[in-house]
Amino acid sequence: MLLALVACDHGPAPAAIGLTCAMLDEAPTLVDLDLRFANADEAREYLEHGSSETPREHLIVATDGPSIATLPLEVRGDLTYCVSDELGASRDAVIAATERAAAMWSSVADVRFRFVTPPRCAERGVDAHLVIIPECGASRVVANAMLPWRSGRRGQELAINVCYWDHDAVVASDDALTRTLLHELGHVLGLVHAWNTADYVGACECASSTSFLALAPYDPASIMNYPDCGATWSLFDPPALSDADRAGIEELYCAPGAGPPPCP
Ligand SMILES: [Zn+2]
Repeated sequence: MLLALVACDHGPAPAAIGLTCAMLDEAPTLVDLDLRFANADEAREYLEHGSSETPREHLIVATDGPSIATLPLEVRGDLTYCVSDELGASRDAVIAATERAAAMWSSVADVRFRFVTPPRCAERGVDAHLVIIPECGASRVVANAMLPWRSGRRGQELAINVCYWDHDAVVASDDALTRTLLHELGHVLGLVHAWNTADYVGACECASSTSFLALAPYDPASIMNYPDCGATWSLFDPPALSDADRAGIEELYCAPGAGPPPCP
């Protein structure tokens, strides 16, 4: 059982992630490891949302009906985010890593992030567009985040799994924490996992999935990959976006200062 290794006692490292597309029985609001939804109904709706209208080739973004699920226009120029005090001793490191990861996405796409410090940081879309909160997650991944999909359009959550077996080591490493935030902010922008492409073959193949749009072929170097799914990087490597990440996000948002699409 996946849950066997999820106890909040920093248990042994899992030998393999043991991936499934949906882990709804174990974690009702998580899909495909770290895609977070506001409630179980919405997670199921996302999974069942698949449509033959959109070919599942070379996906990297989720679709929402006929549209690509990206940030609303009014958010792109000023995506406010806060970091919960409840992260305690990890908070400063999370703030620094989020700032570094946000700057990397902003350097290639017309999206601007702004750190804010409201009296509390708990309610997405109220205290900030994006709230970064801790959770002791029933999931064997470092963090999870909402796509800009349905409830995500009213603000998004990014949760740091403080019960992840290697949480302390990740937080202690600027590179590992920044890589984690870079991946999760990719979800916040609308990217889904690199392995959800039709041409991916490996441990993370999904039998059931949602609709995706082709922007790039499977890219093992993508930040939207996982080491256990065939990524060519390790979590502790210096953070970097791949060529496909840059091309994909620029197609969605245009280059800095050049958005919104259609891009010049
Ligand atoms: Zn992910």
